[in-house]
Amino acid sequence: MAQLTEIKVPDIGDFKDVAVIEVLVKPGDTVEKETSLITLETDKASIEVPSPQSGIVKELKVKVGDKVSEGSIILMLEATTAEAAAPAKASEPGGASKQEEPAEKPAANVAPPSEKEEEEKTPASVAAPAPESVAPPAAPSIPQGDIHADIVVLGAGPGGYTAAFRAADLGKNVVLIERYSTLGGVCLNVGCIPSKALLHVAKVITDAEETAQQGIAFAKPGIEIDKLRGWKESIIGKLTKGLTGLAKQRKVKVVRGTGRFTSPNMIEVETSDGKKTVSFEHCIIAAGSAAARIPGFPYDDPRIIDSTGALKLESIPKRMLIIGGGIIGLEMATVYDALGSRISVVELMDQLIPGADADLIRPLHKRIQKRYEAIYLKTKVTRIEALQEGLRVTFEGSSEGGGPEGTGAPEPQVYDRILMAVGRRPNGREIGAEKAGIAVNERGFIPVDKQLRTNVSHIFAIGDIAGEPMLAHKASHEGKLAAEIIAGGEKMKSAAFDARAIPSVAYTDPEIAWMGLTETEAKKQGIEIEKAVFPWAVSGRALAMARDEGMTKLILDKKTRRILGAGIVGINAGELISETVLGLEMGADMEDIGLTIHPHPTLSETVFFAAEIAEGTITDLYMPKK
Ligand SMILES: Cc1cc2nc3c(=O)[nH]c(=O)nc-3n(C[C@H](O)[C@H](O)[C@H](O)COP(=O)(O)OP(=O)(O)OC[C@H]3O[C@@H](n4cnc5c(N)ncnc54)[C@H](O)[C@@H]3O)c2cc1C
Repeated sequence: MAQLTEIKVPDIGDFKDVAVIEVLVKPGDTVEKETSLITLETDKASIEVPSPQSGIVKELKVKVGDKVSEGSIILMLEATTAEAAAPAKASEPGGASKQEEPAEKPAANVAPPSEKEEEEKTPASVAAPAPESVAPPAAPSIPQGDIHADIVVLGAGPGGYTAAFRAADLGKNVVLIERYSTLGGVCLNVGCIPSKALLHVAKVITDAEETAQQGIAFAKPGIEIDKLRGWKESIIGKLTKGLTGLAKQRKVKVVRGTGRFTSPNMIEVETSDGKKTVSFEHCIIAAGSAAARIPGFPYDDPRIIDSTGALKLESIPKRMLIIGGGIIGLEMATVYDALGSRISVVELMDQLIPGADADLIRPLHKRIQKRYEAIYLKTKVTRIEALQEGLRVTFEGSSEGGGPEGTGAPEPQVYDRILMAVGRRPNGREIGAEKAGIAVNERGFIPVDKQLRTNVSHIFAIGDIAGEPMLAHKASHEGKLAAEIIAGGEKMKSAAFDARAIPSVAYTDPEIAWMGLTETEAKKQGIEIEKAVFPWAVSGRALAMARDEGMTKLILDKKTRRILGAGIVGINAGELISETVLGLEMGADMEDIGLTIHPHPTLSETVFFAAEIAEGTITDLYMPKK
């Protein structure tokens, strides 16, 4: 007689009484192992529950709207193989690495591809240099700690948790060490996510102010700071709780405490229950970075804060100085300006966000110059005195002048709050790296090769601690790659970090996004480029949104016409840049982009209009013949 098996809801972390929102099979259906059976919806995400084995569905035990928890019976399955029901496993996400011979994806192009074929595919699939020391020590020779792991990941930010989850999905026994009570690192707790929550609110406030120009006037907003803070915290809570659930589902063991290497195969963790040792065959260091400081200022004064302090949103200062005109400083300036602070920004270099091309910065500079009290370029802060009435700041400008009118440094000023946003310092010196023989450079970064291996070949480093750019999406991509290289062994010996571009975004208002080669960099390196710039002043959508100050710039190879870089300034630039990154990864040329039909009217059209400009075929602008 055919054997009937109860198929149950597997371990879904901390979730209980989760709603069934879809039943994907019916009685009589033949299902394979991993075929999705039902979809559940938690407050964080939808989860598809796969079948742990193949068979024929005999009877459904749930319907849409039912609430289920771990162990609830989904259906009765008649086994078609002798295979025993095994616990369901999360389906594997797409890999981060490219193997030795990646299948080349042709770019969608109607033009004959001859030129492209001749062109060498730039840095894709660069094999990593052979590691200095070879295979990791064999397992038996490793001293055993209180806990032993195939892979231990130090730090649970976007790099670390991604690496740990990927390694677990690939069948490894993983330990994740994190010193803070929540997973997610800087990005989820005190970085990307809380800043974007507050930036969203800032945008609502400034948009509402500006609709007066279209004849819709709102009253001044009432700001309930406790409620706003609570809302921001609730988003962090949802995401970090979700990560704890995901770790549990994957059986990743989380050890809470500060970890330091004691040898090349051991980390000692200072936990609330005392010291615990974790031995490992491989390690991925993902210990991130911390806010940098200019020495010599009175940091014990609580009115001097860093980005973490600014995101706490304890109060709204009347007059606030932001030291550092980079991305983090300007995002925080955007928030506090909208909430009502009078903002001044002081920057040592001759432009805001010094890594980006100057033409991208101009629309932002123009807009915030009108809103902020002052923007001092080529100016540095030399002294901060903590007085009762405020923080008295002394400035020093360059001889070329950095004051508000380009006339030199301003007179000393008194502020209620100072935000120090002068960059981030990698945590390389805080983890006992020397005990494992891991090299750390003078800035605190841990140098790695193209496979993300440190000089100790079984120890990898990823994310902020492994080098610039210090961005969450770089950290997570590296996390997947490191996990895949370790888990893949021989098979992955030629896999390497081969992304052609890592996009950067300033979520200011307007946003600024860029990727690949910048114009400044091309000039510096003597690379011959062409550029095509589409001004948003002629974009129907930008005009309809009353935000036509933006522009979209494509940088292309003069000969091959392929995209080498892009820069966008304008609302939603951070979303728009992805198409250009894909174009670069796929080796797209201007014709590919210009012949791709984009929906109208959208801001995404500006990318294709820029490509048409490069091709001399644009009809939405008049371009005199060259
Ligand atoms: C205000 C702000 C806004 C940002 N916005 C963005 C953005 O919009 N987009 C973007 O891409 N990036 C943004 N970033 C940068 C982004 O947060 C980082 O690039 C990213 O978090 C790096 O990830 P990581 O995994 O390398 O390290 P981290 O996120 O720094 O995580 C490292 C983890 O390791 C833990 N750790 C360190 N040492 C130890 C130890 N010895 N033992 C145990 N645990 C340890 C830390 O507690 C931390 O949880 C922002 C940063 C800030 C500060």
